[in-house]
Amino acid sequence: MATARAKLNGKSEIYKNYIGGRWVKPASGVLMENRNPANIRDLVGLFPASTAEDVDAAVNAAIEAFPKWKAMPAPKRAEILYRLGQILIERKEQFATDMTREMGKVLKESRGDVQEAIDMTFYTAGEGRRLHGYTTPSELPEKMAMCMRQPVGICSLITPWNFPMAIPSWKMMPALVCGNTLIIKPAEDTPLSTINLVKAAEEAGVPAGVINIVMGKGEDAGAPLTRNPGIRLVSFTGSTDTGRIVAEKAARTGKICSLEMGGKNVIMVMDDADLELAAEGAIWGAFGTSGQRCTASSRIVVHKKAYKKFVEKLTGRVKSLRIGNGLDRKVEVGPVINEDAVRKILYYIGVGKDEDGATLHFGGNRLDRGDYKYGYFIEPTIFTDVEPQMRIAQEEIFGPVVSIIPCRNLEEAIEIGNGVIYGLSSSIYTQDLNRAFRAMEAMNIGIFYVNSSTIGAEVHLPFGGTKATGNGHREGAMATSLEIFSEWKAIYVDYSGKLQKAQIDNQ
Ligand code: ADP
Repeated sequence: MATARAKLNGKSEIYKNYIGGRWVKPASGVLMENRNPANIRDLVGLFPASTAEDVDAAVNAAIEAFPKWKAMPAPKRAEILYRLGQILIERKEQFATDMTREMGKVLKESRGDVQEAIDMTFYTAGEGRRLHGYTTPSELPEKMAMCMRQPVGICSLITPWNFPMAIPSWKMMPALVCGNTLIIKPAEDTPLSTINLVKAAEEAGVPAGVINIVMGKGEDAGAPLTRNPGIRLVSFTGSTDTGRIVAEKAARTGKICSLEMGGKNVIMVMDDADLELAAEGAIWGAFGTSGQRCTASSRIVVHKKAYKKFVEKLTGRVKSLRIGNGLDRKVEVGPVINEDAVRKILYYIGVGKDEDGATLHFGGNRLDRGDYKYGYFIEPTIFTDVEPQMRIAQEEIFGPVVSIIPCRNLEEAIEIGNGVIYGLSSSIYTQDLNRAFRAMEAMNIGIFYVNSSTIGAEVHLPFGGTKATGNGHREGAMATSLEIFSEWKAIYVDYSGKLQKAQIDNQ
């Protein structure tokens, strides 16, 4: 995305940051262009290039709004979320269209993204009347012991471009219901979808200063959100490299830090699998969102007895995939996000071609003629006979490129599946219950599917992964996201009327 001085273009809108309940220009006065990745002649809008000055103002607004928001009973906070969910339902089509225009994924998937935000909003709103703590016996007589949740304080949410409304909602809704105030910084490529979410929250009645949005580049607007001492928690989703920088910075001022990062997910196809179903799941997993999901199926490990047939079925289907502008209802695979992504994906395709033994079986090219001329389109690409240690089978490509790896049996499939630095999602296709359960137990990952692709998480189950994918937290499911956005307070009430000493009196 190019950076431009505030240049007024007749049709494109100029957007602002939202700080303390007001839509305001960035302190720098600089705006950034956001263009449609399917057609870069289409300027989506001009968005603030914010800096630490804007972040400081947003943090101050969040600090000011915190005591009142925290004091509002959680069921009341939840009522606002119910209204927000309703607004999202009403605007779903518009928000999905905006999302496809700024991010590229096909309209059906953008609708799914908005729907996930709706699901998360209603699901979290229900928590307003729970937010359970617990009581427990004291070791001393006439003394009561219990614990309750309290908000952590000011939260910064740093989000990626591939799920520009769903991921912000995973963070924003639990943060709000717990009584925190927040600053969100969306990815440079997809600010509009997050603005749509924030505007809907404003309309639903979230008070001024509770939600603030600051847009801009990672180093300029994201980094201050990891440093500002007013911030207590950083919740980040993005690449592993950036996540680690965020964690290091956050640690310097003792912030709570939750990270959701990369994946190199595997589908294991056994010789007894329904190969039609497996091929369908592989297409959806590898080429849905043009392979730009952290849960994308970028490796498919196939039993050698099913290998030839599976590759045939997969290739047959890939050949007929329609690539194009996601706003066209017939299109099944949209563009990738930007020129940098094109370069990175083509680089990895080159690496794959150079690997000794791997075969570029299908695709491998940028599409840049005719309708594709002004977009970032890459053919769905299949490498066959890939070996587990090859770079294309180890590193996250984040594009429509899949590596097919042959295996001899389930044990080998599991070993290959686990043999990467990431641990997000995996799946197995088999009709054998024992194999399914063995794989379920053996995979060192956060999400597992049987007879389904590696994508398709639902909001009420924990989302996240092991190893380089995360740092031990999970989003989604209430129990796990509340663990991020609230802190425990233990309370002892002694009604004996005398000094009682824990550990000492019972000796
Ligand atoms: P991507 O999702 O494109 O792989 P990143 O992981 O770099 O890229 O981006 C995820 C989010 O992190 C984006 O909102 C980006 O602006 C932000 N970001 C990038 N660098 C930093 C940084 N140094 N500090 C804080 N946030 C950053």
